[in-house]
Amino acid sequence: MSFWNFLTEEQQQWKDTCHRVMDKEITREYIRECDMNREYYYEGFDKLHEQGMMTMLIPEELGGMGADAMSYAIFNEAMGKYGVDFVATLGVSQFTAQNLVKYGTPEQQEKFLRPFIDGTGRFAVSISEPHAGSDAAAATTRAVKEGDHYSVTGLKQWCSGSSAKNCIICMLVRTDPDAPKREGLSILIIPNDTPNMELRKLKTLARRGTGTNQIFLDGAKIPVENRLGKEGQGWKIITGHLELERVAVAAGYVGCAQQAVDDALAYAHQREAFGQPIFKFQTLRHMLADMQTEVDAARLLTYRAAAMMNAGQNALREVSMAKLHASETLQKVSRQGIQIMGGHGMLPEADMERYFREGMQATIGGGTSEIQRTLIAQTMRL
Ligand SMILES: Cc1cc2nc3c(=O)[nH]c(=O)nc-3n(C[C@H](O)[C@H](O)[C@H](O)COP(=O)(O)OP(=O)(O)OC[C@H]3O[C@@H](n4cnc5c(N)ncnc54)[C@H](O)[C@@H]3O)c2cc1C
Repeated sequence: MSFWNFLTEEQQQWKDTCHRVMDKEITREYIRECDMNREYYYEGFDKLHEQGMMTMLIPEELGGMGADAMSYAIFNEAMGKYGVDFVATLGVSQFTAQNLVKYGTPEQQEKFLRPFIDGTGRFAVSISEPHAGSDAAAATTRAVKEGDHYSVTGLKQWCSGSSAKNCIICMLVRTDPDAPKREGLSILIIPNDTPNMELRKLKTLARRGTGTNQIFLDGAKIPVENRLGKEGQGWKIITGHLELERVAVAAGYVGCAQQAVDDALAYAHQREAFGQPIFKFQTLRHMLADMQTEVDAARLLTYRAAAMMNAGQNALREVSMAKLHASETLQKVSRQGIQIMGGHGMLPEADMERYFREGMQATIGGGTSEIQRTLIAQTMRL
């Protein structure tokens, strides 16, 4: 299929490389298998590390690729084509590592970032709590300073990828309950095998391979030297990479939504009913035309946002539009894809039911659709 190619030759080559790695090294079957068995993508993670792709956002002087937002979006579109859960496994480590790059002391970088760069460590980010999701700054998990350590007590929720081996959690905690909501928060760097901390995997509709956890903390002792940045800087640190995160997940949704259209199209050619391939029915032809139009729109919004970020422009509104439209498009086209595939679309081997489940998560995680609309409205002086 042809479409307006807005990529430079170099970006096109990068895109081809990413798709080749996805199709040859990772494969659609592997992604499906991990989802069905709720198994973390250890092998996929390691293979991407061998290709140097896990550390693509790390600056060159620290041993990474120093990639820009466009290259990262291209990568995520390719990694998301067989399901966005895999993008989440990669993304939580890649974004969270950026916190260490920006705010870590040389000692913290050596202790916590180096294993990730070497391919033995990974990261997760723990912002949400049962009563603090969209209103994340309402977090109440309390860290009380006691000499050379913090004693941390509370309950965190939805911490994706945190139960994987050798995972370091960057956790948003309240260090000053008397300060204004956003100013009393700090970030602690917490290994996932810390005593007095228990992780419980949640049986979610989607994000089954990466896994997402509740974290119970009951007086967990975290050394003061594990605080990232200053006390009270937590909100600034944790929201500092939201634009990059949202443009990346939007690109993952675009990749998956395109695959949903491609799979539905292939099925419509192959399946016959009433003596003809089902694509000949006008109602399905129009549905497929609408699906491709939505995906193209989501792709253009996503790369516009990435290009603006590359140019150093403020892209808050454009990133929110990309995240909003790409997530809703994935939800919509995967639902239509199931309709086109009929009963076959309900089976795991058809993949469409997984795209649909992941589409349902896409409009919630990383800022709900309602929050994206609120952000867009704010830029319109509404
Ligand atoms: C599978 C999964 C993985 C996740 N992974 C992580 C992770 O790794 N780390 C992490 O910290 N968090 C993670 N999250 C949490 C995620 O960011 C939150 O679920 C999300 O921010 C929404 O919060 P909530 O679920 O508490 O819903 P709520 O905030 O309670 O929202 C409920 C409803 O109210 C609406 N609403 C809320 N506020 C407003 C408003 N101001 N205006 C209009 N509507 C509003 C919402 O849009 C939604 O429709 C994950 C969530 C899921 C489901």
